[in-house]
Amino acid sequence: MLSWSEGVSEPEAETLVHAVQAVLNWLYFRRFDVFFDPPVRLHVFGNWVIPSLVNRHDYWGTQWYVDTAYDPASERVLGPQYLELVRQEPWQRAEPHLDLSLIDQDLTDMPAPLARQRPGYYSLGTSYPELAAVISVHRLRAIADAPTRELALRRLVQHHLGHLLAVPGFGERQFVQRRGLEMHCVNRCVMRHAETVEQLVALALEERSLGWPFCPRCTAHLHSAIIRRAGNWN
Ligand SMILES: [Zn+2]
Ligand SMILES: [Zn+2]
Repeated sequence: MLSWSEGVSEPEAETLVHAVQAVLNWLYFRRFDVFFDPPVRLHVFGNWVIPSLVNRHDYWGTQWYVDTAYDPASERVLGPQYLELVRQEPWQRAEPHLDLSLIDQDLTDMPAPLARQRPGYYSLGTSYPELAAVISVHRLRAIADAPTRELALRRLVQHHLGHLLAVPGFGERQFVQRRGLEMHCVNRCVMRHAETVEQLVALALEERSLGWPFCPRCTAHLHSAIIRRAGNWN
């Protein structure tokens, strides 16, 4: 399920939707067993609001998650808190699914006390594998060149879609680096970790010539992640 906050622009939201759709399509076109009945289906909820709940109840809309997880002292959305709100949401309990959110506020993957101690530190995105990922366009907007900005956002979306599908796998010992709950690839691959906007742009430019951005090992993991979900997930 894809959603975004109020301040996300139309082109940014389009990049999100297209990037996810393109990765899923690429995988489905190569698997006849899932082609006609895709196990991971895209539901675009965008910037949703349930008017009857606004100001009366938690979970009234996309912006509620952002506002609730926002820490004014560090001027960041606290990623761990955001992901926890998703984990606890009534819709996850009713029907487990993968959530990918795009926000326009600055983001950190640290809890509040640590985030406040390191005012210069930010995250481009953070994720809880097989559950939810939240990514931010805040820092990307500083990229002056529009095509490069789009390339960077697409790369960030692909990367966190990989995390959502738990790619590379937790059982991997070779060619991976673990960072909290996130596994990263060390091959020439979109699952390499980028800490800063500069690193993200450099990797996105380097990988542009690959066409398909996942390395063979991560591609194999993507295929098994999709097959594993066949019949159980949406
Ligand atoms: Zn990552
Ligand atoms: Zn890889």
